[in-house]
Amino acid sequence: VQTYDGIAALRERLSAERAAGRRIALVPTMGSLHEGHLRLFDRARGLGDIVVASIFVNPLQFGPAEDFDRYPRDLDRDAELARGRGVACLFTPATGEMYPSGPNRVLVRAGPLAERLCGRYRPGHFDGVLTVVAKLFNIVRPDVAVFGRKDFQQAVLIRAMVEELNFGVSVDVAPTTRESDGLAMSSRNVRLSADERAHALAVPRALEAAQRAFTAGERSGAALARVAAGVIEADGAAQLQYVHVIDPRTLDDVEEAAAGSVMAIAAFVGDVRLIDNHVLT
Ligand code: AMP
Repeated sequence: VQTYDGIAALRERLSAERAAGRRIALVPTMGSLHEGHLRLFDRARGLGDIVVASIFVNPLQFGPAEDFDRYPRDLDRDAELARGRGVACLFTPATGEMYPSGPNRVLVRAGPLAERLCGRYRPGHFDGVLTVVAKLFNIVRPDVAVFGRKDFQQAVLIRAMVEELNFGVSVDVAPTTRESDGLAMSSRNVRLSADERAHALAVPRALEAAQRAFTAGERSGAALARVAAGVIEADGAAQLQYVHVIDPRTLDDVEEAAAGSVMAIAAFVGDVRLIDNHVLT
């Protein structure tokens, strides 16, 4: 793996790759890589001839009271892991390389899809995400970019941005990678104490309980949300931020759930914010 912290050198390398006819697959991340990220690299290898991964903890997508400073960072370990999964180029810019004029000069505005779910609780978050993804698309000019379904609303917004702004990048969304006990992998999981780690399981359990209720015939979106909320409340330590049963295209709440409706949950365990979702089947 070759590491680049400058935009110019990365672009030079990628121009050569493009001239040689290679398809470029991009996987944007914030680092502290886990198996979920590594499976995105595997997928990217199948979709392109050369995999570019970025590692950038994007200050624009963190609110003032959020965990930008506490977000885990481990570049040496990340480079080792990326090398082991066939990443050719690792782009690791400093903040000043990405935002030389400061972070707020021009922003991509996420629009109405960002007004619900996480966006309601994290004002400006998706503007920050879309701005950095737009920059990465312009820097790397990938043929395809791979994202994770764990961040469901993010994937929907990135697809919407690519359509609305005509990026000409194909967007691939990969299934959520979970620990063996069901917890969705997340870089933030390392910040959970052993006790908090046990309480974090309330989130996948709530999704499982809702799926069981759906399988048993419950179709009311509100009732399914109450089933999930009940599991989280019963845990005692996990604090529910939201649970919604939504149409995956509009992100609107559905009155009547159907196969393909998505249940999305956000909850705090201690000061760690966890999100997860499940497509009802
Ligand atoms: P992050 O580093 O958390 O910003 O995530 C970078 C990319 O990896 C995003 O597209 C995420 O959706 C994806 N991702 C993170 N965790 C998982 C997971 N457990 N399963 C699948 N994709 C994931």
